[in-house]
Amino acid sequence: MTEITLYNTRTRSKERFRPIDPANVRMYVCGPTVYDRAHIGNARPVVVFDLLFRLLRHAYGEGHVTYVRNFTDVDDKINARAAAENRPIRELTDETIAWYHADMAALGVLPPTHEPRATEFIPEMVAMIETLIARGHAYEAQGHVLFAVASFPAYGRFANRSLDEMQAGARVEVAPYKRDPMDFVLWKPSSSAEPGWPSPWGHGRPGWHIECSAMSEALLGASFDIHGGGIDLVFPHHENEIAQSMCAHPDSDFARFWMHNGFLNVEGEKMSKSLGNFFTVRDLLDQGIPSEVIRFVLMSTHYRQPMDFTERKAEEAEKTLRRWEQLLIERPGARSSPALQYHGFAPAVLAALADDLNTPKAISELHALYEEAKGVELVESNRALTQLQVSASLLGLNLDIAESAARRKGIAETLEGIDAIQTLIERRAEAKRARDFATADHIRDSLLKAGVLLKDHAGGTNWERTREFDASRLEALR
Ligand code: AMP
Ligand code: ZN
Repeated sequence: MTEITLYNTRTRSKERFRPIDPANVRMYVCGPTVYDRAHIGNARPVVVFDLLFRLLRHAYGEGHVTYVRNFTDVDDKINARAAAENRPIRELTDETIAWYHADMAALGVLPPTHEPRATEFIPEMVAMIETLIARGHAYEAQGHVLFAVASFPAYGRFANRSLDEMQAGARVEVAPYKRDPMDFVLWKPSSSAEPGWPSPWGHGRPGWHIECSAMSEALLGASFDIHGGGIDLVFPHHENEIAQSMCAHPDSDFARFWMHNGFLNVEGEKMSKSLGNFFTVRDLLDQGIPSEVIRFVLMSTHYRQPMDFTERKAEEAEKTLRRWEQLLIERPGARSSPALQYHGFAPAVLAALADDLNTPKAISELHALYEEAKGVELVESNRALTQLQVSASLLGLNLDIAESAARRKGIAETLEGIDAIQTLIERRAEAKRARDFATADHIRDSLLKAGVLLKDHAGGTNWERTREFDASRLEALR
C-alpha cells in the first residue's frame, strides 16, 4: 500500500492520509460557476485534484475512489450574463459546461465520478436549511434565511481569522434583516425574472455555500475524506460550509482533510482582463500551446505555492516533452516489449507524488529516468525508458508518441508514419552501402520536405520531427 501524506489546511500540518473506508475513498472539490470559459487559473485546481484522484486510484484501486466536483449553475453572475446576452439561463450553463468538459479533457483530466449541478439538488438544500432552522442555527427574515454565526462558537477557527479580518475578507453586506453582520445567506427571494424554486420561505433560490454542504452529503455522506479547492475558498466559502454541515450533523466530521491550491499569475501579474493577460484554456490551445505542455507547466510548481504561468515555462516544457518522446520514437521497442511493460511506476516518482503531491520532485525524477534511459542502447534492458513512459502517465502525461502527435496534428496514422520513416532510413542506408548517393540524398531531402530531419551518427541515423511534420507526405514516399 502506498503511504500518502497530505497537507491539511484544517490542522496546518502534513498528516498521514488514512481514509474512513479504504473500499470507498471520498473526495469533494468545489467546481466552477458556469457562465464563461475556464481560465488558466481555474484549470489549476482541476489538474491538482486530478493528480490526487489518480494517486488515490493507484493506491486504493480504480473502483474504490469517489470523486465529486460540482457545477455552480445558480448564481447572480450567471443571471447577469444570461440577461446581457438575452438567452435562457439553462442554455448558457449547458454551453459553458460543454466547453468546460472539452477544455479539461484536453488537459488530460479524468472525469470525476459525479458532477452534480446545484439546480438538481434544491430539495436537499431546502431540507438542510430546515434542519438548521430547527436546530436554532438559522433564522428567517424578510423572505431570506440566514445562518446565525453566533450559534456556532467554532466559527472562524478553520480560517483562523479574527472577527475583524473575517468582516474585511467576506466584504460583509450589512442588511437590516441580519441579526449579525457576519450572518450569511442560505436562501433568498427571487423576482419573477430570476430563477427560483418553491420553499417554505417563498419563491427563491439558495445562497452559494449551502450547495456544497448539501451535495457532498447527498453523494458522499455526512463524513468523508478530502475536500478541496483554491486557496481563495478558505474564507468565507469553506468556513461557511463547515458551519452549515457541522451544525446540521453535529456527530459527523464533515471533511477530514482540507486541501487548497495556491493562486496562478501570468508573467508575474494577477490575471485580469484590463491588463490584457487574461487567458482561457481555450485561448492557449488556440495559440498553439499543446495541451500536455499546459498540464506540464501547471504541475511544475508545487500545488500549495503561488505559481507563475509564463511563455518561457511553456517553451521549456515543450522541449522537455519532445525530448522524452523523441527517445521513445528512437527506441520504439520499449513500447512493445512485453517484458518491459510491467516494471510499473518508478518508485521514486510515486513516492514524490505520495508526499503531498510533490510534482516538481516527480518531474525531476522523470528527468533522471530520461538521462538513465539515454545511456542504454539495448531496448530490451531499458527499464528506465519504460518507467519514464509509465510514470509520466501517473502524472496524466501521455508520452505515447502516436497519440500525442495525433492530438497535436490531427493525424491518425502516425504510427504507420513512424514505420515508414524507419523503412526509408533503412533504404537510405542500403543505398549508401551500394554507393548510390543520389538515391540516399533524395530520400533524405524528401523526408525533410515531410518534416523529418535525419541526423547521422557513428552508430546509425536518428531522426527528429520539424515544425513542418506532415504524415500525409510520408505516405507518398512509401
Ligand atoms: P470559480 O469558478 O471562480 O468559483 O473558480 C473555480 C475554482 O478555480 C475555485 O477552486 C477557485 O479557487 C479556483 N481559481 C480561481 N482563480 C484561480 C487562480 N487565478 N489560480 C488558481 N485557482 C483559481
Ligand atoms: Zn464549495
